[in-house]
Amino acid sequence: MRRRLIAGNWKMNGLRGSGTALASELAARLETAGGLPATEMVVCPPAQLLLAVGAALEGSGIGLGGQDCHAETSGAFTGDISAGMLADAGCGYVILGHSERRAGHGESDAEVKAKAEAALGAGLTPIVCVGETEAERQAGSYLGVIEGQVQGSLPEALGEAGLVLAYEPVWAIGTGLTAKPADVAEVHDHIRGLLTARLGAGPGAGRGAGRGAAVRILYGGSVKPENAGELLSVPNVDGALVGGASLKAGDFWAIATT
Ligand code: PEP
Repeated sequence: MRRRLIAGNWKMNGLRGSGTALASELAARLETAGGLPATEMVVCPPAQLLLAVGAALEGSGIGLGGQDCHAETSGAFTGDISAGMLADAGCGYVILGHSERRAGHGESDAEVKAKAEAALGAGLTPIVCVGETEAERQAGSYLGVIEGQVQGSLPEALGEAGLVLAYEPVWAIGTGLTAKPADVAEVHDHIRGLLTARLGAGPGAGRGAGRGAAVRILYGGSVKPENAGELLSVPNVDGALVGGASLKAGDFWAIATT
């Protein structure tokens, strides 16, 4: 019922040459494979590459996403980009509340929620990131932290574009450390419970029914070809948000075809 989603977060990496080459190689691999019926692939390049990467991906079936958006639709917000602008550039998704934005830009749950509502309003599917720090894990408070982020960051109502959650333990992002499958299972199970309690268990009938059960929950944190199989087979892991390994076509493809 939930199609696997493998999303690549390129972060602040890539120029026109390297970005379009990476996108073209992924598109070529997907075409050679004849598509991946059970897996959806999405890449989230930096904003200046959206149009060029979107053109390189045209007709491939690989989706495009932004890495952040502003909660307002337009105005005097120097350096920001709106959800409508991302949609206009061809995006179907936007990553929101990534820990690098929560930490580096002081983004609160309330701001992430406002952004998620703006994204839905523009027809984008938000990929809302949550995750505990190393200190919170060691203190044993991680489930409460994650619960607070989920409850505080999710939009009030889901639009037709739906929602994706990404569990990304901060200590596992870009560090080479990955959470153990049992730890991932515990958190994803907890998040699924929160989602079904809040949005309904479903399956129900019609589009949008049973949304708590339909929301995909991705794992993120040093996912690479060597550990993707183990992580993606954990119950309630519906895909991966991939940082570093998404910058190499071979690695990202290997994860998507795990
Ligand atoms: C990320 O930035 O979302 C991420 C998971 O990064 P990495 O895969 O490099 O840990």
